[in-house]
Amino acid sequence: MNPFSLEGQTALVTGANTGIGQAIAIAMGDAGAHVICAGRSSCEGTVGMIKSAESLPLDFADPMAAKDTFADRQIDILVNNAGIIRRDDSVDFAESDWDDVMDVNLKAAFFTCQAFAKAALPRGTGKIVNIASLLSFQGGIRVPSYTASKHGIAGLTKIMANEWAAKGINVNAIAPGYIETNNTEALRADPDRNKAILDRIPAGRWGQANDIAQTAVFLAAPAANYIHGAVLNVDGGWLAR
Ligand code: NAP
Repeated sequence: MNPFSLEGQTALVTGANTGIGQAIAIAMGDAGAHVICAGRSSCEGTVGMIKSAESLPLDFADPMAAKDTFADRQIDILVNNAGIIRRDDSVDFAESDWDDVMDVNLKAAFFTCQAFAKAALPRGTGKIVNIASLLSFQGGIRVPSYTASKHGIAGLTKIMANEWAAKGINVNAIAPGYIETNNTEALRADPDRNKAILDRIPAGRWGQANDIAQTAVFLAAPAANYIHGAVLNVDGGWLAR
């Protein structure tokens, strides 16, 4: 058996309509999985790029939105990718920007993992890949709720791994560096920020969504069966600097 194959598995990816989530969905399809492309926006575009896929409306405006998603069918792999960011000085940061980000990035991710685990634990097998951030390790600037949520994701990845590893569920996270998506458009459009970022990346380039996607396939595959509670940096060397 190819330890990097997802043949015969069903994967659900949140935020699969664009960016990193879309790339993960496509890569998992290429690795042989049937992919459920979940999103608040239509995922039909992504579905059209995958051999075996379907779309599922899932809007984390309600953080409990996925509570019944895993009950009536076998889903082997969950990728919690949906995420938002809000920018303002900490001294001015609005409560709504705190709540919106924490609801999508942290509360929804946790309760989606919980719903997945309720179905997967009795089967004794399953893989969760959470999308963390460099701001799971660093403070950042002007993004307090994002930083809090991504530090939270790193912690939750570890506690869930502690509780479920012996029961056959792998819980890991990927901390992407600076990746070319909608999320980072403003940074790339600012020549000074763009240069400062590139100057610090040992690889000398922005990451591509596919850099993250291939890592997600690895963490979801049998090759990663003994990896539990890891938050894996995929950052062109940023954190090594
Ligand atoms: P993106 O292109 O903005 O994609 C974000 C995804 O999350 C979209 O599919 C978006 O749907 C979805 N989403 C937002 N709010 C949602 C909600 N209420 N319910 C359901 N889905 C929702 O950004 P991206 O860069 O691909 O980000 C994907 C993940 O990677 C995020 O968790 C982000 O924090 C993380 N990340 C990105 C970078 C980077 O450099 N790009 C670095 C570190 C971590 P809509 O299209 O409908 O808004």
